[in-house]
Amino acid sequence: MRFDDESVDASELEDQRGGGGLGRGLAVGGGGAGILGVVIYLLVAVLGGGGSDSAGAPLSQPGGSESGDVAQRCNTAGAIDQYDDCFVLKAFNEINEVWGAQFARSGQTYTKPRLVYFSQAVRTGCGTASSQVGPFYCPPDRKVYIDLGFLDQLQRNFGAQGRYAQAYIVAHEVGHHLQTLTGTEARVRRAQQADPSQENPLSVQLELQADCYAGVWSTLANNAGNVTIGEADLDEALGAAQAVGDDRIQAQAGQVNPETWTHGSAQQRKDSFLTGYRGATLASCGTVPHA
Ligand SMILES: [Zn+2]
Repeated sequence: MRFDDESVDASELEDQRGGGGLGRGLAVGGGGAGILGVVIYLLVAVLGGGGSDSAGAPLSQPGGSESGDVAQRCNTAGAIDQYDDCFVLKAFNEINEVWGAQFARSGQTYTKPRLVYFSQAVRTGCGTASSQVGPFYCPPDRKVYIDLGFLDQLQRNFGAQGRYAQAYIVAHEVGHHLQTLTGTEARVRRAQQADPSQENPLSVQLELQADCYAGVWSTLANNAGNVTIGEADLDEALGAAQAVGDDRIQAQAGQVNPETWTHGSAQQRKDSFLTGYRGATLASCGTVPHA
């Protein structure tokens, strides 16, 4: 994939990598339920983690380094290709660009999420999280959290590689932000509280819709000319969508049990991405909970 320009906007970035020590001033509330129930991208088990608490791991902190440093480095020629942090930030910019235009077209205002880079562990509006949970979105603070080491894991542990696979991950997380803006996330949370037996099935619906939104973004970005996506790129995204299917992940961990799925199977995730990719509208991704 290729971006039509190389400028990077770091105004929504909070770079908390390499902070060490306790974070300052970030509210910790809501426990881990939001993270565990809805937004965690990967099952902890596979990556050897132990839940959303991370005793022992140093917490990233706000102001660990200046996002201005990132902006400066990323705005030099070739940086987006060369550095993961520059690429993810650029993808994040382009994703917000598309959704901003899309919302404006229907007379709505799009509020951008923020992007947090952290290492090892981080305090969030959803509680403390470790890198082992993979990238995630926290609805209460409306931030996408990513430890860029995950991109290596995606490649090593799940065989999903390439820049577009990484863009798909970011687009999926921003898809959760859309669900927060549209009220879907709140509606699903209420439905889960009303009927706990539906917690996992509803989580799967949310996750598949976020995959679908990532597909919609791909087509809209391509059509707008902001991003050029080729056939090989599409295969990368589909490979990533399948690699993080619950069945694949559970198979790696030794046991496949559909009742515990929170994200959907490899096939479902691939199909959802394609539904959005072909439908190219938010409406093509349907409503959650399913009517
Ligand atoms: Zn997700």
